[in-house]
Amino acid sequence: MPLMNVHTLQHPLAAHFLTHLRDQSTKPALFRLLTKRLTVLLAVEATQTLALRPRPICTPMEAIEGRVLDEQLVAVPVLRAGLGMLDPIVEFFPEVSVGYIGLERDHDTAVASSYYAKLPPMMTGRTTLVLDPMLATGGSAAQAISTVKAAGAGRVLMLCIVAAPEGVQTLNDAHPDVEIYTAGLDRALDSRKYILPGLGDFGDRLYGTASPEDAVRP
Ligand code: URA
Repeated sequence: MPLMNVHTLQHPLAAHFLTHLRDQSTKPALFRLLTKRLTVLLAVEATQTLALRPRPICTPMEAIEGRVLDEQLVAVPVLRAGLGMLDPIVEFFPEVSVGYIGLERDHDTAVASSYYAKLPPMMTGRTTLVLDPMLATGGSAAQAISTVKAAGAGRVLMLCIVAAPEGVQTLNDAHPDVEIYTAGLDRALDSRKYILPGLGDFGDRLYGTASPEDAVRP
């Protein structure tokens, strides 16, 4: 079945930021900055159809009917790597309600298990952005989306920095209504379920916890 509901950023800046993000010589401080910049591009792309309502205002020149956002969003980063994507969402959508889902990936089986979930009490019907930078097998994203749907989420948008075809397929099968936004749709998963070419372990690179043995020699 062809991949559905996946939107890959086409802006040259997305390719530029993503290339620097992937580069194994990129240090955590720059990695965090690039993650935020890519999240801005993803958020802009994913929220193009948000509802607006009229707001009459006066410019210094004349009265006009302006328009302001008429939707209160929910954002749910998947811990821990998803936290790197949260700041720009809160900055652009200051009214956003934030929930957290903690999923831990078993290093041997790559199966995710839930260790934490704290979602806003008032999320019924609200557009919800699930933030998880690496859509690898899709197992943890599918689980996170089931959790936000069970809490009443309306339209769910999945924002990830890099996606593997396997992860997109898993999400399409589990949640065909969910639109996926990514900066890069990569080739495949390796035997450990890491994305190729990918960028390694996102959380480790974000928080400087990678071990030197993880580096690939050119
Ligand atoms: N999680 C990561 O951080 N990287 C991958 O390549 C896959 C899952």
